Amino acid sequence: MLEKLSSGLKEALRKITGAGYIDKNVLEDLAKDIQKALLAGDVGVKLASSLTERIKDRALNEKPPSGMTPKEHVIKIVYEELVKLVGKKSEVSLKPGKIMFIGLYGSGKTTSIGKIARFYQKKGLKPALIGCDIHRPAAMDQLAQLANQINVPYYAPKEIKNLIEIAKRGLEQFKKYDIIIFDASGRSSLDEDLAKELKNLGEFVKPDEVLLTIPAELGQAAGQQAEGFKKLVGITGIFLTKMDGTARGGGAITSCAVTGAPIKFIGTGEKLDAIEVFDPERFVSRLIGFGDLQSLLEKAKEIDFKPEAAEKIVSGKFTINEFYEQIKSLEKMGPMKSVLDMIPGLPMKIPKGFDISKEEGKMKKWSYIIQSMTKEEKEDPTLIDANRIKRISKGSGTSEAEVRDMLKYYDQMKKMMKMFSGGMKRGVFSKFAKKFKGF
Ligand code: GDP
Ligand code: MG
Repeated sequence: MLEKLSSGLKEALRKITGAGYIDKNVLEDLAKDIQKALLAGDVGVKLASSLTERIKDRALNEKPPSGMTPKEHVIKIVYEELVKLVGKKSEVSLKPGKIMFIGLYGSGKTTSIGKIARFYQKKGLKPALIGCDIHRPAAMDQLAQLANQINVPYYAPKEIKNLIEIAKRGLEQFKKYDIIIFDASGRSSLDEDLAKELKNLGEFVKPDEVLLTIPAELGQAAGQQAEGFKKLVGITGIFLTKMDGTARGGGAITSCAVTGAPIKFIGTGEKLDAIEVFDPERFVSRLIGFGDLQSLLEKAKEIDFKPEAAEKIVSGKFTINEFYEQIKSLEKMGPMKSVLDMIPGLPMKIPKGFDISKEEGKMKKWSYIIQSMTKEEKEDPTLIDANRIKRISKGSGTSEAEVRDMLKYYDQMKKMMKMFSGGMKRGVFSKFAKKFKGF
């Protein structure tokens, strides 16, 4: 799927990771490479050039978040802009409801209905199919065949030529089912008759979803078709079919995204399990071979990791004051822990019970303990012996064990921060990136 686009983007990003530093020339080259890749993937010229302009603009003007190198920042920008290019994320509802499928002849409507019925079946919902393609008797047979294949009940009468009548009887019959899917009638082109028919059916059925099937091989023309159906009939989403075996999928996806109608599913083969929920982030990650790097970068962003603090820690200075700063933002330790877990080569085991963010009482006590320490003690906690512990415990109204507990925690955190900042300095992120395909 989208091999050309994918390999072009990967190559462009590989160049960036290999570049000595990021400057205007490197960014110009990157923009050119990305543009070439997009055009090879059938993305429209206008979309491609406005995308690369935005990438350049952001890369030149935005400051990398703390803990992120300029290179990583550029990669992140490319990723984010590509995600925007392929569309908004939309929820696939798992609640019972009615779905109406519309689309031109041969667009993959009936096949996709089979796929989606299977999809819901696997989620534990009971689907039922209603055939409303009154113009082609063969279409009713096709639906019946499909339904039998997946053991789903169907209502597809060939003798009734009134859409509303079919819908009415079908709904009556399938009252106990969760997902009622309508195979609405098709045509070879969207004309007024078809629009009227679909509108009538829609007004009667009041579907929760109106999904338009569009074959990806249409390329950029997919967007126009989506726009046409959107205007004349109204749709809630797109089921982009036949993404396998076409080089024009990039054009189809991006031109559909422009219409604002979200792509909800993609079809990737003739078989009934060849269906994917379309998630822009996951889609782009796969396209550029990012793997988990994106979630890693996201998490790095969440950590409030100040470079100055890192300096201090690297030079061995992690006093109680820094410690206090850190524990004040303990809610951030969750993501931080998972970041550490994700970085291979960081010789780090997070001690058990380290995440105390939920123990609010403890935090409060620790702040009393710290307030009872002298300035020297805070600067150099190794000074704190048994006598001092006794004094601090009395002064803060806590037990000696609690003071010890906090000091132990401080020690552990100091070790961890040292390794973490060391990892940051050695550029663990970029090493990590290389592990992934395409880097
Ligand atoms: P309809 O006329 O809109 O109901 O379309 P059909 O469901 O009958 O599909 C038309 C043709 O497209 C059939 O040969 C399907 O097997 C094929 N088709 C549908 N979806 C896909 C897909 O995702 N990938 C591939 N390769 N073929 C598909
Ligand atoms: Mg059909």
